[in-house]
Amino acid sequence: MSEDLIRKAAEIIAESKNVVAVTGAGISVESGIPDFRSPGGLWSKYPPEEYATIDAFYENPDKVWELFYDIGETLSKAKPNPAHYALAKLEELGHLVAVITQNIDNLHYEAGNKNVIEYHGNARTLFCPACKRRRPISMLHREHGAPRCECGGFMKPDVVLFGEMIPSQALFMGETLSKSCDIMLVIGTSAQVYPAASLPYTAKQWGATIIEFNTIETPFTHSVSDIFIKGPAGETLPEVVRIVEQLNKIDTEK
Ligand code: NAD
Repeated sequence: MSEDLIRKAAEIIAESKNVVAVTGAGISVESGIPDFRSPGGLWSKYPPEEYATIDAFYENPDKVWELFYDIGETLSKAKPNPAHYALAKLEELGHLVAVITQNIDNLHYEAGNKNVIEYHGNARTLFCPACKRRRPISMLHREHGAPRCECGGFMKPDVVLFGEMIPSQALFMGETLSKSCDIMLVIGTSAQVYPAASLPYTAKQWGATIIEFNTIETPFTHSVSDIFIKGPAGETLPEVVRIVEQLNKIDTEK
């Protein structure tokens, strides 16, 4: 962990009341939710073109629900980790205005963040594409296959599958926040899934400082990132927020 970069990041954040965080699967890895792309990850068991497209869902909902049940099992055991709590603290301290997440795991809300923009939906809710009804996920039984809505249609988790549009309100908010923030924290995302991957480029173009947290370098690192903090977000991010809190205290004592 680079102490100097962590302090530098904290000093910049402490000066701003307009920080936005963009999070990806990496922030939830320490909560026990693997990212999908790594070897042995979900995509190696369930090829996305067969299991994670909206066309595959319409063609064979029972088959696609094999993937949803597996994801559901993992998500039901996951709890927020110190990186999620650090972002909740940063919002509470008045520095962070929003989290834009690609994750579907609900962990930012569980950690206490109030302003969360979900680009890819939320797996804790069921959605019926036929009648647009939503209901909480509960009492699902794998052996019953794809759950049915009261209207007779097949329900899916309220997440964005390949071939589906990002919710327009989330897109609008993501773009607006990227153009207006002073600082963007880019945490645990591989810069591969668009349009979410474009947000740091937009923010940079509109003058924001980009602080990236990842265990490895990404396409952002040498293009838009002003500071790259290498390491597990569950260790680096709480340390940054601890120093921000310290700096705030010094400021109020002056
Ligand atoms: P990704 O899998 O493409 O990339 C994850 C990134 O996180 C990688 O760059 C990796 O190096 C980094 N990383 C891994 N562990 C980390 C850690 N402890 N700390 C910091 N960084 C770490 O993820 P993505 O860019 O979010 O795209 C994957 C897509 O799959 C998303 O669109 C998302 O909807 C979905 N997804 C969601 C979840 C979830 O809800 N938790 C999990 C997996 C995938």
